[in-house]
Amino acid sequence: MIENTFGMNIIPENDSERLIVLKRYRIMDTPSEASFDNIAKLCTKIFNTPISLVSLVDADRVFFKANVGMGKAVEANRGKSLCALAVLNPEITVFEDALKEPCLIANPNVVGNFGLRFYAGAPLITHDGFLIGTLCIIDQKPREFTALEKEILAGMATSVMDQIELRISALEEIENHQSTNLLLSEQKEELVTSNEHLFESGLRFRNLIKESPTAIAILKGPELIIDNANDAILKIWAKDQSVIGQPLSMVLPTLQGQPIMDFLKDVYISGKPVYGNEAKLTMLHGEEKKDIYVNFTYQSIGAAGETRELMIVANEVTEQVNARKAVEEINQRLEIALDASKLGSTEVDLATGIMQSTAQFKANYGYGKDETFNYPDLFNAMLPEYRDRVKGLVQEAIAKDSIYKAEYPVKWRDGSIHWISAHGRPRYDEHGKVNRMVGMTADVTESKLFEQRKDDFLSIASHELKTPVTSLKASLQLLDRIKEKPTSPIHVKLIEQANRSMEKMSVLVDDLLNVNRMAEGQLKLIKTTFTVADMLKLCCNHVRFENKYQLIIEGDQDLQIYADENRIDQVVVNFINNAVKYAPDSKDIYLNIERVGNYVKVSVKDTGPGIESHILPNLFDRYYRVSYESENYTGLGLGLYICSEIIKRHGGDIGVESEVGIGSTFWFTIPINET
Ligand code: ADP
Repeated sequence: MIENTFGMNIIPENDSERLIVLKRYRIMDTPSEASFDNIAKLCTKIFNTPISLVSLVDADRVFFKANVGMGKAVEANRGKSLCALAVLNPEITVFEDALKEPCLIANPNVVGNFGLRFYAGAPLITHDGFLIGTLCIIDQKPREFTALEKEILAGMATSVMDQIELRISALEEIENHQSTNLLLSEQKEELVTSNEHLFESGLRFRNLIKESPTAIAILKGPELIIDNANDAILKIWAKDQSVIGQPLSMVLPTLQGQPIMDFLKDVYISGKPVYGNEAKLTMLHGEEKKDIYVNFTYQSIGAAGETRELMIVANEVTEQVNARKAVEEINQRLEIALDASKLGSTEVDLATGIMQSTAQFKANYGYGKDETFNYPDLFNAMLPEYRDRVKGLVQEAIAKDSIYKAEYPVKWRDGSIHWISAHGRPRYDEHGKVNRMVGMTADVTESKLFEQRKDDFLSIASHELKTPVTSLKASLQLLDRIKEKPTSPIHVKLIEQANRSMEKMSVLVDDLLNVNRMAEGQLKLIKTTFTVADMLKLCCNHVRFENKYQLIIEGDQDLQIYADENRIDQVVVNFINNAVKYAPDSKDIYLNIERVGNYVKVSVKDTGPGIESHILPNLFDRYYRVSYESENYTGLGLGLYICSEIIKRHGGDIGVESEVGIGSTFWFTIPINET
C-alpha cells in the first residue's frame, strides 16, 4: 500500500512493464553485495555526504540493495522515499534544500526527526530504457550540487547498472552451466554479446558524455563516420550536431595530411589505443585557420580484434600551451638581455679545456668573439698571484657540487688590468662524473676601482691628518717647556709652526665635512647677484701675499652671475691652490672671465707640468688622486670632486684641458639668467 506524501502522481505510465523488467534482474530482497556497497561508500567519500543508497523501486516499496548511513533499514514505503521521484526522471533528480520544495512539505523524511535536507538521485536505467531504481546521496544539511558532481553521480549510476546487468548475466551463466555443460560455450558467447550490448546501448553512455567538459566523439567504420560528438568536441571543431553521420575527413578537411588521421586509421586497424600530449591541430574556424593543442586518447570500442567504433577523448590545452610558450619566450628574452648586458657565460669541457663562450665572456678577458679562448688562456690572463686560489675554489665547488664565486684581476694582452667577478658550477655526465663547468663573469673594474680608491682614501686621510697633528703636538710640547720664558725667539717660531699645522688640518677637515654634506644632499646655496671679476680680485690673497705667484685677471670685467658667492669662491680658490701645489714653477696664473651663450665661463690656467690625457676623465671623481711616487703632495683627492658638486648644483659645467709639458686650464660655467 503506497502512502503517497508527495501530493503528485508518482507512478509512471509504464510502471507495470517496468516492474516486469525489475523482476528480470532477480535482485530484489537479495543480501548486500560488496560491489554495490563499495560504490555507495565511494559516493559518500566523493560527495562528502553521510548517506548513500542503491535503491530499487518496486510496486509499493523501495528496496535498498546497498545502504551506507541509514542503519539497518532495508526498504522504505514508495510513497515516502524520494527515490520514487528519482525514477520518474531519466535525468538526475536534485533537491538542494528540501524545505524549499513544495512536493516535500509533507514528507516525513523531511519534516520528521530524520531531517533530510539534501537529496540527489541518479536513475538506474536498463539497457532497454527502463528506470528501475537510483543511486542516491542524502544529507541532513542543504548544499549545492554542481553540474560536474551531477555528471559524476550519473557516471557512478551507470556503473551500478552495469554491475546489475553483469550480475544477472553471471547468474544466468551459472544456472546454465549447472543445467548443461554442452551449452556452456554458447552461453559464454551470449555473455560476450550481452556485454557488447551493454556498451552499444549507447543511450546511457551518450547521455553521460554529452555535457562532459572533456571532448568526446565516437567514430564508426573504416570511413570514420561521426556517430556521436559531444558539445565540447563540437566546440573544438567549430561545428554543430549536423556533422553526425558524416565522415570525419569531410567534416574537417583541414585534417587531411595532419598526423591525427594516420593515428586514427592505425587505431582502427590495430585496435591499440594511441595517446597524445599537446598535439597540434590546425582547424578552420570560419575562414580563419587556427592552431590548437590537445591532449587526447584514441581508443577502439567493441570485441577484441574487430574494431567497429573509435572513441576520441580529448582535452583542449591551447591556453596552457600558449601561456607556457609565452613564459618560455620571456625567459629567452631575459637570457638575451642578460647576455647583452655585462654578463658573459661559458661552458668548459674539463677533459679538453675547450670553452664555449659568449662574445661578452671573451670580451671580459680582452678577446674578440672569433678568437680562440680556452681554459689555459683564462688562467694565463689571471694575475699569477690569484691563480692558485681560484683553482682551489673551482676544485672545492666540484667536490661539493656547489657554486664557486671569485673576484680576480686579469691582464689583457694590451697590458691593461681589469677586474672580473666570476661565479660558476660543475656539471656532471650521466654517470655522475664531473665533466664540465659552467660559468658567468662580469667586468667589475669600475666598481672595484672605486672601492680601491675609497680604501686608499682612508689610508691617505689618516696619514694626512697624522702629519700635522704630530707636528702640532711637538710644537705644543716645546711651547709648554718654555712657557716660563715667553720672550724666547724660538717661541715665535713654534707658534708659527703650530698655526701652519692647524691650517693644514682645518683644510683637510673642511674637505671631509664638505664631502659628507654633499653625500647627504645638504649643500644649501645662498644666491646673490655679483660681479665675477670683483670676486676674483678679492680671492686668494694668501697667494698674492706670498709674492711668488701672479694672478692675472683677463676677459670681461663686468659680467655678473646669480650664484652662491662663497661656494664659487671656494671653487676658484681650489683651482688656484691646485695650480700652486701641482704647478709650483708656473709663476703666472691666468684667471679668465668670458661669456659663452647664456653662461659665464671662468677658467684658471697654469703653465705647469700638465696632466696625462688618460687621467683627465677621472679627476673630478670622489677620492681620485694622481699618485706621485717621488713627490709628496698632501691632499685627499676630494677638492675637485667638491668643486664639481658645487658647479652641478648651480646648473653649470666643470672641466679641464691639459697638455703634458704645456700646462692645465681648469674651468667652470654658471648660467647667467637665473634670478
Ligand atoms: P687633492 O686634494 O689630492 O689635491 P683634487 O681633487 O683637488 O685632490 O685634485 C685631484 C688631482 O688632480 C690631484 O691629485 C692632482 O694630481 C691633479 N691636479 C689638480 N690640479 C692640477 C694642476 N693644476 N696641475 C696638475 N695636476 C693637477
